[in-house]
Amino acid sequence: MELHEVGSLLEPAPLPLETGWERLASGALHVAVRTDLHGCTGEMLEWWFRWRCTTREYVWWHPVDHVSSTWQGTLAPDTHIGSEHVVREFFSGLPDQDLVIQFRDPAEFFEPDAYGKARESGAVTGAVVGRLGLTHEPPRLADGRVLGGRLLHIARDTGWGAALRSHFFVGLDLPDQGLSPEEVAAQTPEEFGRALLQHAYDEFTFLSRFLPALFVAEHRDTRPRGTRGERAVRRGGGGRLRAGGQAAGDPAGPPRPRRRRRRPAGGRLPAPRAVTHDSEFARVLQSVGLAPDTIPEVTEPYDDRYVWRNGEGRTLVEVDWTGHGESGWFNTYFFHQPSLEDALDRVVAGLPTVRVLRGQEAVALDQDDDGVTLTLRDTAGATRPLRAGWVVGADGANSRVRRWAGLDWQDEGYFHDWLVVDVRPQPHLRFPHVAEQTCDVARPATMVPGGPGRRRWEFMRLPHETREQLDRTESAWELLASFGLGPADAELERHSVYTFQAGWATRWRAGRVLLAGDAAHLMPPFAGQGLGAGVRDAANLAWKLSAVLRGVAGDELLDGYGTERLPHVQTFVRFSVELGQVICISDPAEAAARDARMTAAWDAGMAPPAPPRPALGPGAHTGPAGGTLSRQGRVRVGGGPATLLDDVLGGPGVLLARDAGALGSVDAAPLADLGIRLAALGGAAPGVLTVDDVEGSYAGWFDQLGVDVVLVRPDGWLYGAGDDAAALADGLLAAVRSPAPVG
Ligand SMILES: Cc1cc2nc3c(=O)[nH]c(=O)nc-3n(C[C@H](O)[C@H](O)[C@H](O)COP(=O)(O)OP(=O)(O)OC[C@H]3O[C@@H](n4cnc5c(N)ncnc54)[C@H](O)[C@@H]3O)c2cc1C
Repeated sequence: MELHEVGSLLEPAPLPLETGWERLASGALHVAVRTDLHGCTGEMLEWWFRWRCTTREYVWWHPVDHVSSTWQGTLAPDTHIGSEHVVREFFSGLPDQDLVIQFRDPAEFFEPDAYGKARESGAVTGAVVGRLGLTHEPPRLADGRVLGGRLLHIARDTGWGAALRSHFFVGLDLPDQGLSPEEVAAQTPEEFGRALLQHAYDEFTFLSRFLPALFVAEHRDTRPRGTRGERAVRRGGGGRLRAGGQAAGDPAGPPRPRRRRRRPAGGRLPAPRAVTHDSEFARVLQSVGLAPDTIPEVTEPYDDRYVWRNGEGRTLVEVDWTGHGESGWFNTYFFHQPSLEDALDRVVAGLPTVRVLRGQEAVALDQDDDGVTLTLRDTAGATRPLRAGWVVGADGANSRVRRWAGLDWQDEGYFHDWLVVDVRPQPHLRFPHVAEQTCDVARPATMVPGGPGRRRWEFMRLPHETREQLDRTESAWELLASFGLGPADAELERHSVYTFQAGWATRWRAGRVLLAGDAAHLMPPFAGQGLGAGVRDAANLAWKLSAVLRGVAGDELLDGYGTERLPHVQTFVRFSVELGQVICISDPAEAAARDARMTAAWDAGMAPPAPPRPALGPGAHTGPAGGTLSRQGRVRVGGGPATLLDDVLGGPGVLLARDAGALGSVDAAPLADLGIRLAALGGAAPGVLTVDDVEGSYAGWFDQLGVDVVLVRPDGWLYGAGDDAAALADGLLAAVRSPAPVG
């Protein structure tokens, strides 16, 4: 049956293909599944799709295959049409798949007259139809329609329940993208048809077990007693999984639900997290009162080398992670992210300007000229609106805010699965405090500290393994054994397989909505920069948003947030992918060539390439030094102790001159309003703090730049450098008050 023939589903008569799959002329796959929903009605089916199950109920629906469920699109209370179900699910033994199911009006599939008549006559009592995207970011037509496949669930009430006919058209839009029937068929293998058929039969059978009771319970205060659904529940209908054959006319006979490994209730997997941060990140922590040396139980410096070895233990390269970075802190730290988040929570709890709402899920977003309305849903399922001037979508890799705002995603096509294992070695175990990358073709692996008292391992999934095989406690211990670690030596805190990905949002602002963190960019963790990039986003955005909210700046300043940050983060995404390309090699010949190349370079004394140091993209900065990272050094004020300059000034923002005289003509007030103070390394002038550059770091920096004055923004990045302090100050204020367009 082709898509244009689905009108025959409006008739109760059996179709040539009720359960099975067939290859269409275009190469697309048509999968048909007939399921008997005992005790159910078409009305219940439609209600189920507009009830909008959370992950918990989604897992009830298919306790084996379903992983996660969220919703987006138009979430009207009285219809499923317009909503989009964003899910992750397995298909009967195949790897898990991200999907967007966009529910559409039946008029898109059927002749309205014929459909209307079928509803009137009872030939159709429930219809849930839509479009199927095979990722969380499916391609779309200009009007928002998802491209990929189609699905139809058509129900008809009978004496025993609802007869459900589900039809899927997989790969339907691929021919329009120029693919030949053979290419379309290669992308939609028959194995998927079999798995989808089994999955659909299983999930609707599971659903029929609880849907009648759930429907009656959810309507008991609004529906008269004795309705059909209630009678069915009283009879115990809908509770049986039939072991025998289906209704006559099902050519393929009944697929039998198979026993498979259960996933944890609720479908949630333990989330792996960041373990390392750099000097710039440490400076941002310092700015919020969490300087690394004040939280030694959370983060510890790693003043050592990062050693890469091949499978035989030969050194391929040693990356020097020792010493301090220009931000005034160690180049490398290892930390425990949950402990850091707890510490940040405590800081936020002390801020009178911040209200934290926990247990609220944003389920819809609408913006107009004056503000944004978020719809929040609490854990009991109750929704309410929340009005805000601006919304920052820091909602992670599967950001719904990004989708709601219509911001596009550039996928770099990088996917590698790694098992991430966190352990707490027994205190008596003196485990070497090293960071090592094992480039062993038999199993690429990373071993690093995991913050105070912890260790982190990451193991690449090999081509012949499934995620399920790798993501087991026994697998974790087997892999740890090769590092000399067994259950008697350590507590296994968690293990989880994570798909490393690379990409970014092409724009970070749409009207009053902005993106930050993983919502705006994703990178594999080989450079340890994913969370660092999110922290840079926050620092870049905070002072600008604050200026806009206070009316000091025009909102165009926020256009420069994305244009500044995007090129910077792209550099780190690409760098991380390049590291991954060296590490993630499972082909012996390729690995041997890599080893030969790297050992020759190392033996010849060649230093590894330094990590990139990108500047900001176009935005609020000027001149060649503008948009580069500023320095932080130690200073002494009066006869006091040597202190980091940010601690003296209350933050990174500073107009700093070699001599205070250069700042005499600068109007300090508007700069102070942005969080920028006046300071000098010598001389004296009213309103200027003179500091002693005890380590000569600032004088060296001025010499390097060939200037006498630098203007550092509140996020620690240079606005510009030169000799005319007043011109720099005026330039920044103009860039803030009436920002130039940034493309
Ligand atoms: C194995 C691994 C190792 C890593 N190592 C490092 C490292 O060493 N260094 C480093 O810098 N980075 C590292 N990273 C990357 C780093 O962990 C991430 O970049 C970072 O945690 C992303 O933070 P985020 O706040 O942007 O997103 P998330 O941590 O995903 O947080 C998003 C939040 O938004 C909430 N949310 C989502 N949707 C909604 C909604 N609709 N309503 C309400 N709330 C919502 C979620 O519940 C969550 O709390 C690593 C990542 C992995 C997987």
